[in-house]
Amino acid sequence: MDAEQLRENAHRMVDFIADYYKSIESFPVLSQVQPGYLRDLLPDSAPHQPETLQDVLDDVRHKIMPGVTHWQSPDFYAYFPSNSSTAGFLGEMLSAGLNIVGFSWVTSPAATELEVIVLDWLAKILKLPEQFLSSGRGGGVIQGTASEAVLVVLLAARDKALRKFGKNSIERLVVYSSDQTHASLQKACQIAGIYPENYRVLKTSPSTNFALDPNVVCETISQDVAAGFIPFFICATVGTTSSTAVDPLSALGKIAKAKDMWFHVDAAYAGSACICPEYCHYINGVEEADSFNMNTHKWFLTNFDCSALWVKDRSALIQSLSTNPEYLNNKASQENGVVDFKDWQIPLGRRFRSLKLWMVMRLYGVENLQNYIRKHIKLAEYFEELIISDSRFEVAAPRTFSLVCFRLLPLACDQDDGYKLNYNLLDAVNLSGKIFISHTVLSGKYVLRFAVGAPLTEERHVKAAWEVLQDQATILLRGL
Ligand code: PLP
Repeated sequence: MDAEQLRENAHRMVDFIADYYKSIESFPVLSQVQPGYLRDLLPDSAPHQPETLQDVLDDVRHKIMPGVTHWQSPDFYAYFPSNSSTAGFLGEMLSAGLNIVGFSWVTSPAATELEVIVLDWLAKILKLPEQFLSSGRGGGVIQGTASEAVLVVLLAARDKALRKFGKNSIERLVVYSSDQTHASLQKACQIAGIYPENYRVLKTSPSTNFALDPNVVCETISQDVAAGFIPFFICATVGTTSSTAVDPLSALGKIAKAKDMWFHVDAAYAGSACICPEYCHYINGVEEADSFNMNTHKWFLTNFDCSALWVKDRSALIQSLSTNPEYLNNKASQENGVVDFKDWQIPLGRRFRSLKLWMVMRLYGVENLQNYIRKHIKLAEYFEELIISDSRFEVAAPRTFSLVCFRLLPLACDQDDGYKLNYNLLDAVNLSGKIFISHTVLSGKYVLRFAVGAPLTEERHVKAAWEVLQDQATILLRGL
């Protein structure tokens, strides 16, 4: 790499990105292109001779940007947020600049040691029990995603059970979670070889605000034990994907402990809120958990990807995931005094992700991070009030954090309880390009999700979004 060329081109790229952020509100939030649009715009094969950065940036501007959905737009309210920040961006940039592959301590001691330290910092901000800190038998590790996090702990739990009950017991191992649990657990079960019929997806209802009922878990486990199955894994969620429901951690953790099961807590989105004293009670009971996960790339200003996973017993992960080929042997690993994160994850290679998380914590400070969360929750409360103020709409599930689930109420003559009406409303507002929201189904009802969490969102954006929704609702209702 030519350092002077890097300096010149990187300056131009940073200018390009800074200009993008400056003009981000001018783009349709949801890309409006049709599938396959790019094939017609780009050549069939790579160029033989080098092109200029200017040529590439021109193509980015005219051919790539139309196919981009703008996750950092202040008008993005779909799914859950995926934050970026200057601090996160700078950390990501530094990580790309150093471009190390820190699978073992020796491959870049700072990468491993910084990761251990920043995850201890974050665990302390969240007031996680001491057993999750690196000073004991546990510790934290950065995974790419919450999906990888649940997979690695499921593998650790599976192998623990297989060691106890014998290899052939795999067909009897049973996993429990609610019907609101993220689909990543289902995928993890598929990969881990859990028999599909042994994944118990337990029904929730509006009566428990879509949280898992511990009595249902208890009853199902008893029936399974009586039938010769081996319950070995419970996954609870703090902030479910559809409606941000919070499962009762204490009760579920006690059940898991009584049955010697692994208890995993998925707080991928809402974990960030638990850095605030007024929201940290949502993870009361985490002391019963074997593992806890939070995506700092969702709502903690850390650029994608950065998923923080803590375990109480790191040896369980290492037993499942370690390999020791000769070509990776080194004195530090053999003398056993170092962490080799390759043994805590699926891939071998790993990026220096802790840099961006460290930068976020240092350049914001805990107080500003807490205020950032509070601001979004306040904006969600404001949106909820707007919904309540218009009798054509209803709030469709209790709002706990910064997600509002709502729908346009069906008319008396509506045959499908507002399904098509709300489907059409979603389509219309997203096609307008002015905002982007997503949907879910709760208790059979088609529900719209408005998730506040983009770093640039202000009250005026929420107000404008509400006007878009009202206008489109008026047009739809007029056409009925
Ligand atoms: N768990 C919950 C509660 C989620 O909401 C999500 C994604 O939104 C996930 C897990 C999966 O996240 P990831 O994309 O990091 O695998």
